[in-house]
Amino acid sequence: MLLQTVNVGKTYKNGIVALANINISIDFGEFVFLTGASGAGKSTLIRLLFREEMPTAGQILIDGRSALRLSNSEIVRLRRNTGVVFQDFRLMERSSVFDNVAFALKAVERPWPEIKERVPAILAKVGLAGRENDNVMHLSGGEQQRVAVARAIINNPLILFADEPTGDLDPRTSDELIELFLKINAGGTTVVMATHDKSIVDRLNKRVITLSAGRVISDAVGGWAL
Ligand code: ADP
Repeated sequence: MLLQTVNVGKTYKNGIVALANINISIDFGEFVFLTGASGAGKSTLIRLLFREEMPTAGQILIDGRSALRLSNSEIVRLRRNTGVVFQDFRLMERSSVFDNVAFALKAVERPWPEIKERVPAILAKVGLAGRENDNVMHLSGGEQQRVAVARAIINNPLILFADEPTGDLDPRTSDELIELFLKINAGGTTVVMATHDKSIVDRLNKRVITLSAGRVISDAVGGWAL
């Protein structure tokens, strides 16, 4: 099992109980939607799963080991194996497409000749061939999100988390992004995507974990559960 939560809870410092008693398992290679109304706890769960925040109850197991007890070198390896994409892209706004994507390789200290070779290759994979020198602010929203996806997958992560990645995109552009996620998943990367877009979830017929008020109320393959 790639990821497992055991009675996981998250209570924020202001007393808000964002998650309670979450027990889910996600296997290698799965494609999983995380759905639920605004405030249900989707972002919180994603942040716990990629270890940006720690649970206040329960345990998260990564490949069978407690995420709380990792050594520094294991944390570095875990980061390399994890890609994350957000609704608001989170790009370096004054930089080129190339620099935004190269950032992820520099962060893991890859040598320059390798960076020069791999960035154009990953851009071609996400449909942005030849756009290296464009400033990211001159791209459309859909193109900016592709840059963010290229940055997230260039280290060949085992798992890609996406938090409302289509939230700011028009329907056609968001369909194209979903196609890209399916392609990435077909290449072996586990994809966990939070969304409240019912039409996407209904069309894909994948596993859907539904949260309501911080609890899992449904976990099944098929369409929207609410
Ligand atoms: P969703 O992604 O489904 O909209 P969130 O995980 O963002 O849900 O939020 C779940 C609950 O936790 C909400 O009540 C929200 O207001 C609260 N919350 C989220 N982040 C924080 C935070 N950093 N501090 C305090 N409360 C938070």
